[in-house]
Amino acid sequence: MASINQERWVKSLQSNYGVPSITLVKGRGSMVTDSNGKEYLDLLGGIATNILGHAHPQISKAVSKQMKTLGHVSNFYMHPNVLELAEELQSMTGDTRARVFFCNSGAEANESALKLSRRTGRFQIVASEGSFHGRTMGALSLTGQPSKRDPFKPLLTGVKHVPYGDLKAMARAVTKQTAMVIVEPILGEAGVVTPPMGYLSGIREICDRSGALMVVDAVQTGMGRTGQWFGYEDEGITPDVITIAKGIGGGLPLGAMIALGKTSHLLKPGDHGSTFGGNPVACASALAVIRVLKKESILTKVLADEKFLKTELAKVNGIKEVRGKGLLLGIVLKRKLALELKDMLEERGILVNAPTTSVIRIAPALNISGKEIKRFLAVFDMSMNEVLHV
Ligand SMILES: *Cc1c(COP(=O)(O)O)cnc(C)c1O
Repeated sequence: MASINQERWVKSLQSNYGVPSITLVKGRGSMVTDSNGKEYLDLLGGIATNILGHAHPQISKAVSKQMKTLGHVSNFYMHPNVLELAEELQSMTGDTRARVFFCNSGAEANESALKLSRRTGRFQIVASEGSFHGRTMGALSLTGQPSKRDPFKPLLTGVKHVPYGDLKAMARAVTKQTAMVIVEPILGEAGVVTPPMGYLSGIREICDRSGALMVVDAVQTGMGRTGQWFGYEDEGITPDVITIAKGIGGGLPLGAMIALGKTSHLLKPGDHGSTFGGNPVACASALAVIRVLKKESILTKVLADEKFLKTELAKVNGIKEVRGKGLLLGIVLKRKLALELKDMLEERGILVNAPTTSVIRIAPALNISGKEIKRFLAVFDMSMNEVLHV
């Protein structure tokens, strides 16, 4: 039976989303509470956005202090937070030539990369089958999922999609006319699909040979989620462009397109813009996120959590493999029971998501506690055994 809130939703919101069954009203750390007072352990974190959980004291403090001081200035004026955040991101890339453009979402970050790539004088693009780069028309043209694309054709021309993880297919598709190759270090929305080691460095070589820009879409893998700042570092490469969003704002809308090396000056004055991009409040939140991640050595913790989760999940019945890195994990089930399992976990106070019928994705807050991880594992094991026997 539909709840009152579900009826209100249907009568006032567009039907582009499914109608959610839960109304969340508050959160603290990795816990959230619904409108009936039921508590959940949140392992999805607003789809990989609440990188330090809900209502983090330092984020709340930084955000409210900034809002009380100066909320928005536009890009006609500077603000200390924009400068500091751009410098932080630049230092994470290890490239002093890197230059940052701020926007408000992942799709916008990829739109910005797309426009920047046009400044090479080329327009052809190679992306991956199954990839997700956003829902606006440019980002959707990059996205490799027919179900999302087909209703909105015609999209941008010149975009080719190749199988993810296949370097030979990539080498065949990239030519001297290719403006950019865009790639996710891990396919997040497609079910946490990891490429073979050497894939990103192989793409780097292909791009170097053809003069195409290598754009890493780190919107989901970025800001420490994989135990590295952006998710490509273990391949020892330097991309030309990095796009980020999701985790960087610590729950506020913020995105960035970082252009490195000689691509950093491709955009010319007047080429691009965003009224809210670099908003002081969103930047204050991001600065608080980075400060906490560094001070508490959370990237190291994330790698330890990954190891523990993979070891423990290997003991659970019905699991084929656990994909992903850091705290972006896809638990692949032997049978197509992900939707049933997700519902059962929700019933028992655990929020996850099922990007496909056989994958459970978790992208919890990076500061999730060991106790919370153990609670998840215990409930997961029990629920798994139960769905296997129904
Ligand atoms: C979520 C996501 C996007 C789109 O971000 P929005 O903020 O929803 O526009 C783009 N790329 C990747 C890899 C994502 O996971």
